[in-house]
Amino acid sequence: MFDGLLLTRADDGTTRAAVTAIDEAQLPEGEVRVDVAFSTVNYKDALAITGKSPVVRKFPMVPGIDFAGTVAESSDPRYKPGDAVLLNGWGVGETHWGGLARKARVKADWLVPIPAGLDARQTMAIGTAGYTAMLCVMALQDRGVTPAAGPVLVTGANGGVGSIAIALLARLGFEVHASTGRLVEAEHLRRLGAKEVIDRAPLGEPGKPLQKERWAAAVDSVGSHTLANVCASLRYGGTVAACGLAQGMDLPASVAPFILRGVTLAGVDSVYAPQARRLVAWQRLASELPKDLLDANTETIALGAVVELAPRLLAGQVRGRVVVDLAR
Ligand code: NDP
Repeated sequence: MFDGLLLTRADDGTTRAAVTAIDEAQLPEGEVRVDVAFSTVNYKDALAITGKSPVVRKFPMVPGIDFAGTVAESSDPRYKPGDAVLLNGWGVGETHWGGLARKARVKADWLVPIPAGLDARQTMAIGTAGYTAMLCVMALQDRGVTPAAGPVLVTGANGGVGSIAIALLARLGFEVHASTGRLVEAEHLRRLGAKEVIDRAPLGEPGKPLQKERWAAAVDSVGSHTLANVCASLRYGGTVAACGLAQGMDLPASVAPFILRGVTLAGVDSVYAPQARRLVAWQRLASELPKDLLDANTETIALGAVVELAPRLLAGQVRGRVVVDLAR
């Protein structure tokens, strides 16, 4: 038996979440069994745990879209007991039992060896949010965005994706502008590398189809009016890497920025990103993300504290990243 957070659906359709003793025989199919050392609480995990959005496709479900730990058993030749591995996405925590439990069994194809230079805890301080932030940075660079082009805006700045995007972009020499609803955290955002911190409120309101050209590029984890206003405010030829929907799933925009300013809207998905791209992203995170910033950006909690934290995360009250230590 091992402890895991188990989500069940009640007769009235609501989601129940409780730390439960689970029989190892109940673990789903997969070639590799992993002793999970650390997991995290991402925005999507909070949606699953609170039942606020239909993230979970079948019950009972162990949530947790990412984890890091040690291989305990493997029928796949690529992995052997003792190997340090991590996992992001692939529907884990949605359709396949996830990381918020002391044990997991998954497909070998889904695993990434922990890169040299990072330990299991650090990979989860980065987590799916940080790995997605790196995919966003790569999306901008793929499209030729360089620091010389001008300032880069990061929305949802105090969130997991936003905070790590700031640190990565600043380290690469970009002038980073951070948009946040929590101006009291401005000093923290400056420590991460933001040059300017702006109030997110105007960006969150309906805006004109074309606005003053302000930023050369952007990383957006907010969506809705915010993404529409970001597109309308990019400089000629600018690019926005869009990965999130913290404000909303909608995009109340016009085509004006695309057809009159050559703006590019680059979509970023981390869940089914190809393995080759994941390996590059994790190698780059290992070498480019300043480790000292990770600690300042991370809160560590026990499995038993996850259920209480989830609604606070959805309410935008959690700063940076939350790591779950399964040994606590
Ligand atoms: P967090 O909850 O950590 O951060 C989201 C941040 O967005 C908040 O901290 C807040 O920042 C801002 N925010 C929250 N609500 C609103 C609102 N109503 N209007 C404007 N801004 C708001 O989440 P993550 O960083 O983990 O994830 C961010 C988004 O990215 C989520 O939608 C998530 O689902 C998505 N995502 C997508 C992935 C993909 O593969 N495409 C992978 C990972 C995440 P502040 O207080 O600074 O304003």
